[in-house]
Amino acid sequence: KEKINQLRNQHRISVTGNRIPKPITEFSELSTYDVSSKLINNIINCGYECPTPIQMQAIPAMLQGRQILACAPTGSGKTAAFLVPIIHHLGGPKRKGFRAVILSPTRELAKQTYRECLRLSEGYDFRVHIISKINQALNKYGPKSSQKFDILVTTPKRIIYLLTQDPPAISFSNVEWLIVDEVDKLFEDGTRCFRNQLETILKSCTNENLHKGMFSATNTSVVSKWCRHNLKGLITITVGHRNA
Ligand code: ADP
Ligand code: ADP
Ligand code: MG
Repeated sequence: KEKINQLRNQHRISVTGNRIPKPITEFSELSTYDVSSKLINNIINCGYECPTPIQMQAIPAMLQGRQILACAPTGSGKTAAFLVPIIHHLGGPKRKGFRAVILSPTRELAKQTYRECLRLSEGYDFRVHIISKINQALNKYGPKSSQKFDILVTTPKRIIYLLTQDPPAISFSNVEWLIVDEVDKLFEDGTRCFRNQLETILKSCTNENLHKGMFSATNTSVVSKWCRHNLKGLITITVGHRNA
C-alpha cells in the first residue's frame, strides 16, 4: 500500500475510485495481465522504452476491464494508453463488426490515432478503419460489408451521419470499447451539441459488455460530472496538476 502510494506520488499520478490496480513501471510487467509478447514487442518497436505516468496507471485499469477518465497533459502518451488494452482485449480479428470505436475531435487526430493503432497492432490482422469520405462510407458499411472490420477511428459528426440514416448505415451493436479522446475539447464547444451526439452514439452501442474510456488533457468539472453519472465503477486518473 505504502509503496504504491509512493510510486504514484513520484510520478504525480492521482487516482479516485475503488480497487485500483497497481501502476506498472515497465512494459514487461504486462505479461502478468496475459498480454502477449507480440503486443509487448510492438510497443518496444514503437520506441517506447518505459510507460509514461498515464500509461502506468491507465493500462492496468483498462486491462482489468475498468471504465476510466484519464487526464494527462498533451504529448504524454494517452493514445497508447487506450490502444494497448483495446488490442489486448480484442485479441484478433473476429468478423463480428466493430468491437472498438475511438472518437477523435478532428480528422487530423483521428489519422494519428489510426497510424499508431496500425503500428501497435502489427501482426494481429485486425481490420482497422478510419472514415474518410462519407459517400464511400455509405457503401462500405452496408449491413454485410462492415462485419469484416474490428476497430473504427472517427470524428463524431461523421458517425452521427451514418447512425442516423434510415436504416442506420453502420452497426455498433457489437462495440465493447468506446473511447472518447480529447473529451474536454469535445465537451467544450457547443457542449449540448456533443452531448447529444454522444447520447446518439451510446444508444446505438447496445452490447451489454460495453466499456467506456474518456481521455482528456484537463480534468474539467463538466467532464468528470458526466463520467460519474455514466461510467459504472469509474476510476479517475489525473497526472500532473489537478485543475478540476
Ligand atoms: P497525448 O495523446 O497524451 O497528447 P500521444 O499519445 O499523442 O500523446 O503521444 C505523444 C508522443 O509520445 C507520440 O509521438 C508517441 O508516439 C510518443 N509516446 C507515447 N508513449 C510513449 C512512451 N511510453 N515512451 C516514449 N514515447 C511515447
Ligand atoms: P467533416 O466531418 O470533415 O466536417 P464531412 O465530409 O464528413 O466533413 O461532412 C460533414 C457532414 O456533412 C457529415 O457528417 C454529414 O452530416 C454531411 N455530409 C457529408 N457528406 C454527405 C453526403 N454525401 N450526403 C449528405 N450529407 C453529407
Ligand atoms: Mg491524444
